[in-house]
Amino acid sequence: MGRVYNFSAGPAVLPEEVLKEAAAEMLDYNGTGMSVMEMSHRSKAYQEILDTAEKDLRELVNIPDNYKVLFLQGGASQQFAMIPMNLMKNKVADYIITGQWAKKAYQEACIYGKANPVASSADETFSYIPDCSDLPISEDADYVYICENNTIYGTKFKTLPNTKGKTLVADVSSCFLSEPVDVTKYGVIYGGVQKNIGPAGVVIVIIREDLITEDTLPGTPTMLKYKTHADAGSLYNTPPAYGIYICGKVFQWLKKQGGLAAMKERNEEKAKILYDFLDESELFRGTVRKEDRSLMNVPFVTGREELDAKFVKEAKAAGFENLKGHRTVGGMRASIYNAMPKEGVEKLVAFMKKFEEENKENL
Ligand SMILES: *Cc1c(COP(=O)(O)O)cnc(C)c1O
Repeated sequence: MGRVYNFSAGPAVLPEEVLKEAAAEMLDYNGTGMSVMEMSHRSKAYQEILDTAEKDLRELVNIPDNYKVLFLQGGASQQFAMIPMNLMKNKVADYIITGQWAKKAYQEACIYGKANPVASSADETFSYIPDCSDLPISEDADYVYICENNTIYGTKFKTLPNTKGKTLVADVSSCFLSEPVDVTKYGVIYGGVQKNIGPAGVVIVIIREDLITEDTLPGTPTMLKYKTHADAGSLYNTPPAYGIYICGKVFQWLKKQGGLAAMKERNEEKAKILYDFLDESELFRGTVRKEDRSLMNVPFVTGREELDAKFVKEAKAAGFENLKGHRTVGGMRASIYNAMPKEGVEKLVAFMKKFEEENKENL
């Protein structure tokens, strides 16, 4: 059995080159006689892996010197709590609710302070991004929170909200490193890496230094303070060492591809192939307002549940895996992250055309 085209939303496809390199180094990393999985996180060999990963990430994203890069655990979901625990000095924060992940982050923040839902697209099943040019931002808000790319619903902020001078915090789990970012517009950028960068178990936090303080909410555990990890260079305790090593390899792969500007171009090209087909198809249609469409997660439906199920089943048999939509929305979703080759999208569209031809009588 060869490799399939894996359209999973996460954990998701990784570059084949990276997997092969990791396989070749599995038993003996760089002459150490052991796997990266087996080495001390305090060893010179591992420190080099960590330092190189951070250096490459800084270069790729052009991260200014006054931002720290933290490699943490607990997934993106742990950040739902760490953010209010570390940033809610006034115990007030504004949340823009554009999907389930933003909603979960908002609900978590409600435990710690006054979280205000200042905008939402729940009225139309999160199929669009609300106008965020003039929101009722709270005067004493510690930050404004967004989920920049909504993995489940397939929407993406094309312009950042007007935070009226407040710190912007963004969950970028499913669009991390898919295009260039101006880090200076954010206080915190974070994401679980299992969507677009590496294996589950690592979350990367890019945080402006002035937001890292001792002044966290009372009772904040040591492990949940940004300061703990910033002061220790992400080595306060044993980090997700193997996962970081794979992330480092993906950073190098991205550099070889030409960096984030090149990735954006490619991602736009790939997404266009799929969206153009959805726009002209008589059987399939996209579910998201056109101007808010994600480059990474593309949900679509036939409009008939039995036909959706038939499509997912036949697609799987043809080597296109994980096209079933999220359990809460149904239909289909193709996640076409950085590591999905253009060929995978072209072949999927060819398969969809064939399916449409064969199922025309059901229209
Ligand atoms: C997957 C996902 C999460 C949750 O990630 P975990 O690492 O499982 O906690 C949060 N936010 C977004 C945008 C996601 O795509």
